[in-house]
Amino acid sequence: MKLFNKFYNMKVGIVDLSESSAEVAPLDARLVAEKIGGAAVNADLFKRYEDGDPLILGVGPLTGSFAPASCLSVATFLAPRFGNLCHVPLMLRTGPEMKFSGIDFLVIKGCASSPKMLHIDKGTMNIVSAEHLVGLEIPEAVQALKKDPPLSRSIILTGPAADHGVSCASVSTGMRGSLDKAGMASRMASKNLKGIIFNGTGGLPFAEDNLNHKETIERDLFADKGHGNEGFLSVLEKIGIEDNLKKIIKKTKWRNMACYHCPSPCISSVEFTWHDPRKNSRTKDNIFLSDHMGFSAMVKKAGKYVLPLLKSCLRFGLDPVAAAKRLPEDGGLPELLSAIEEMSVTPEGPEIERESHPIGEIPVETHNLFGGGIPPVLPDELWGKRVCLSMILGVCPIFLLLFPQTSGIDLLKFLAKDEHDLELLEEVLASSIQSILED
Ligand code: SF4
Repeated sequence: MKLFNKFYNMKVGIVDLSESSAEVAPLDARLVAEKIGGAAVNADLFKRYEDGDPLILGVGPLTGSFAPASCLSVATFLAPRFGNLCHVPLMLRTGPEMKFSGIDFLVIKGCASSPKMLHIDKGTMNIVSAEHLVGLEIPEAVQALKKDPPLSRSIILTGPAADHGVSCASVSTGMRGSLDKAGMASRMASKNLKGIIFNGTGGLPFAEDNLNHKETIERDLFADKGHGNEGFLSVLEKIGIEDNLKKIIKKTKWRNMACYHCPSPCISSVEFTWHDPRKNSRTKDNIFLSDHMGFSAMVKKAGKYVLPLLKSCLRFGLDPVAAAKRLPEDGGLPELLSAIEEMSVTPEGPEIERESHPIGEIPVETHNLFGGGIPPVLPDELWGKRVCLSMILGVCPIFLLLFPQTSGIDLLKFLAKDEHDLELLEEVLASSIQSILED
């Protein structure tokens, strides 16, 4: 099936950090014909390179395309926190920049002898020193990288928590955090890999009628007059957060923001004022809210202190869900901030964190399979199938959960028009979804 060629560069980057080598190789066309892309291809590459304890990144055929919310790349690895193979979604511009940088999949194996960054820039890959970034808080590290040529368009970075071997470390996409609750940051730290930078070109040429198809899908979505968009709050509503806790951000000044080609933002940038106990003064601050599970866990634990505490997690590269669990009960803000700072430098034992209760209606194993950060906005089986669909095609899982009326066939129509090709694609997609859920 040659349907995918114009949706991929047909290139895979192979990096061996132990050997300090990086090469760009042709992508096996049979593999994408059999698996389509994203997490399904990643899982296959993981098995092929299993001996090198690999971290795999991959995009789907629709990543960076005209499809709605086509922002996704997927990281696949053995999750240190859950002990299973897992697929972590990375949103914002990470997927399109990866694809536009000239590769579709990236296999990172081995371990470097000192901290390294990986630069992927218009089809070339370089491993460079990252010694100067170790110990820096995430915003400082991002600033340092932005001074470095070439211009950094999309950065995946670990923070001080990963540097110190903290198990609940979480990767950050730029300064904006991520939904990594599985230990991608720890997996990177175990390889002495501080971060990955993608610098893309202008994009890939997609089929001419894709733009019309995108407009048709979006028109149908928003024909529902009842559809309102409250950004970050729209997902909080779906996961059932109490009104008094929601009010904490309702009272602040906020504006909604969207990832690449997303017509319905679920992210908000929030301005807030708080009393910073370290400076003993009132401070104007802002925070980028994209982690609904993280907000929900932190606000339930710390109420009105949620925003400065989340900001602190972002600075150190910590997962707020795990951080909230470890915070003392009934602490004041100075005590809670100190606890987070302490957490970010204190490695724990290698215990595997296994929850026993479902997340919403989702069995915990299914939830952890996708990094532990995707909100449970649909019931069990439907949730798993929609998330798989997104993780294979390269479309945001939260968008597909919020809009179940956008079907798999609607998305496949970006890839093929011919009835026979579409039938074939549907069969391959169903079997890829099954293989991810059963792996
Ligand atoms: S639904 Fe939210 S996370 Fe997904 S693409 Fe849109 S803004 Fe980004």
